[in-house]
Amino acid sequence: MKDIIIIGGGPAGLSAGIYASRLGADTLILEKLTPGGQITLSSEIENYPGVCESKSGIEFMACWPEQAKKFGCEILSEEVTQIKEDKGFLVKTPSNEYRAKAIIVATGATPKRAGFEGEEEFTGKGVSYCAVCDGFFYKDKVVAVIGGGDTALEEALYLSKITKKVYLIHRRDKFRAAPVTQKKVFNTQNIEIIFNATVKKVLGNEFVEGIILNLNGEEKKLKVDGIFVFVGMKVNSELVKDLVELNEWDEIKVDLNMQTSLKGLFAAGDVRENSVKQVVAAAGDGAVAAINAIKYIEKEEK
Ligand SMILES: Cc1cc2nc3c(=O)[nH]c(=O)nc-3n(C[C@H](O)[C@H](O)[C@H](O)COP(=O)(O)OP(=O)(O)OC[C@H]3O[C@@H](n4cnc5c(N)ncnc54)[C@H](O)[C@@H]3O)c2cc1C
Repeated sequence: MKDIIIIGGGPAGLSAGIYASRLGADTLILEKLTPGGQITLSSEIENYPGVCESKSGIEFMACWPEQAKKFGCEILSEEVTQIKEDKGFLVKTPSNEYRAKAIIVATGATPKRAGFEGEEEFTGKGVSYCAVCDGFFYKDKVVAVIGGGDTALEEALYLSKITKKVYLIHRRDKFRAAPVTQKKVFNTQNIEIIFNATVKKVLGNEFVEGIILNLNGEEKKLKVDGIFVFVGMKVNSELVKDLVELNEWDEIKVDLNMQTSLKGLFAAGDVRENSVKQVVAAAGDGAVAAINAIKYIEKEEK
């Protein structure tokens, strides 16, 4: 039996792995893809304190798994399909079963895709899901923002301060966002609103150069340097939905120790309630969860 199994090898899971294994816990991280998490989708990260040089998400995350392994943390490439309470916890993957005294769920979140042609291919090459992270790279350029909710409008306002022009593209004829936000958007000179439109496809070779819209049944070409998609985030909490309390957005409820409503099961990073959905916060959560998971095990074994 492992002391701690961490599900997800993004910043939260890897930080938890570094802390738990360095504190002497027998720790296993199960990651369904390559370790690194969502940030590996980003062309550059430059807001992680202490790292002055800006790097691609992939470069930035490269040494995190190595640092965890250095302290004895095991990392396996397997997708967790089930967690059960059973004399501690039983964790199932398609090929194996593992047991642990405590669990840290660090499965993160997945930005919802808008579904246009080229969206996957150009992610990190002009298609972004995070304005705070990538907006700066479009200074004085032209971008399209897709969506009609609060996030889309707030991010369009944020981008309007950095970029030359923002096309705000929404598939309906009115926004869902709060009236006060809508008013600000309508009063912003460099935001051009395009209602009743969906993005059909991305134009470009290596990077985004434009888009083709479906506008009232007709095709319209727009020259843009970047596309920001804000059609919602989906937290990956499906695994624990019958085990712990979730909020209305399916985020896992935790206390300040990252403890969920089920003793011994902790959650960290984007998947938890009130996360600011940034790498530095996810890494902090991972450390908090690991330290408290160890305290929990020690208390149970007394
Ligand atoms: C394009 C983009 C740019 C960004 N830029 C920045 C930035 O510049 N600065 C910043 O601070 N933040 C940025 N962010 C946000 C940042 O990436 C996230 O806040 C951070 O990655 C959250 O870390 P996490 O470990 O909680 O979750 P994630 O990074 O989502 O990692 C979760 C991991 O769990 C794995 N997983 C999920 N389910 C399972 C399962 N069932 N079994 C096994 N593994 C599973 C996933 O494969 C994933 O690797 C950006 C996000 C995106 C999408």
